[in-house]
Amino acid sequence: MPSDLALEGGTPVRSKLLPYGRQWISDDDIAAVVATLRGDWLTTGPAVGVFEQALAGVTGAADAVAVSSGTAALHAAMFALQVGPGDEVIVPVMTFAASSNCVIYQGGTPVFVDVDPQTLLIDPAEVERRITPRTKAVVAVDYAGQPADYGALRTLADRHGFKIVADAAHSLGGSYRGTPVGAVADLSTFSFHPVKHVTSGEGGAITSNDPALAARTRMFRTHGITSDARQREAAGSWFYEMVELGYNYRLTDFQCVLVTSQLKHLGEWVARRQALAARYDAALQAFPWVSGLGHLPGACHAYHLYVARLDTDRLSVDRARVFAALRAEGIGVNVHYIPVHLHPYYQQNLGTRPGDFPRAEAAYEQILSLPLFPMMEDGDVDDVVRALEKVGRAYAV
Ligand SMILES: *Cc1c(COP(=O)(O)O)cnc(C)c1O
Repeated sequence: MPSDLALEGGTPVRSKLLPYGRQWISDDDIAAVVATLRGDWLTTGPAVGVFEQALAGVTGAADAVAVSSGTAALHAAMFALQVGPGDEVIVPVMTFAASSNCVIYQGGTPVFVDVDPQTLLIDPAEVERRITPRTKAVVAVDYAGQPADYGALRTLADRHGFKIVADAAHSLGGSYRGTPVGAVADLSTFSFHPVKHVTSGEGGAITSNDPALAARTRMFRTHGITSDARQREAAGSWFYEMVELGYNYRLTDFQCVLVTSQLKHLGEWVARRQALAARYDAALQAFPWVSGLGHLPGACHAYHLYVARLDTDRLSVDRARVFAALRAEGIGVNVHYIPVHLHPYYQQNLGTRPGDFPRAEAAYEQILSLPLFPMMEDGDVDDVVRALEKVGRAYAV
């Protein structure tokens, strides 16, 4: 008997695709950008500092530095910690490639580790096994928006003398044991890509409670020069010095006003993401073949992603087929992530191989990111659940 799946000729749950993530741009955001475009400063102007103060306020960090992307933020963090040839930085494999690429930009060596099988967060026990005298830092990825186990990581960092960088691209608005993300690690990096919590189109930032580290990232974003154009104008001076090799990683003023305006909604949007995630959690109880990920005690989850994990033993098909079936129903599922060590670049340059990190690889065969963004309605979640019901009817065993 044919199923009622759209993939097999049935009527789709939705005629228009529900994306997995989407930005929310208000008229206020647009007005702020337009006003800046009409003003004097398109870049290196006052909007940069205003945004940095707003982000420091939200995260409780002493300082924030705006840069042109989350990737630039990670690169700046590696520069701030003086990662260089011979240095090792421990990175979990269940992440976007930028989390480890930044180590290579600085000439350092990423040392990959496996993740906790329940949460898919970096596993401190695996970190401990890979510490050497060359370990300079760990990049803790707050996968899906759940802060990593910073308590355990801090114990290791203090004992062995390395620093903690939070790749907090997913977790703005979350907290760990009551401390907001951004003020927990030595350096935290954020992305303002449109799928993330707040956006500037492209954009990123670094936060830190350490003024020296923050100052190094600020210098790095502008060529390694010790003052910016506005400071020089204020001082009536032409003189500047390039003291380190930096980049142009600046964020424009119109992007800064956009993300500052977005930031006003952060609390409300994270709460909405959490409510939608709770609706998924409750609905998935009905399906023995799929569940949400585990929770870490003390971590307040900001839900960039809602990651569902298939129990493929209870299905007659693989994840690829479930993915195709849900897409055919008009549900924009996605997969986060292909474990970094499996990318051809890493296999060719670092000699990593399939089988190196069995927990992340097993998870990779089973995960699906379900649509999640603050503008989603409860009825959209119900559509996803209806599509999952159809998958279950067709493929659950
Ligand atoms: C989005 C993301 C980045 C990179 O941010 P960009 O702004 O796209 O450069 C880095 N790490 C993680 C985990 C991300 O999700």
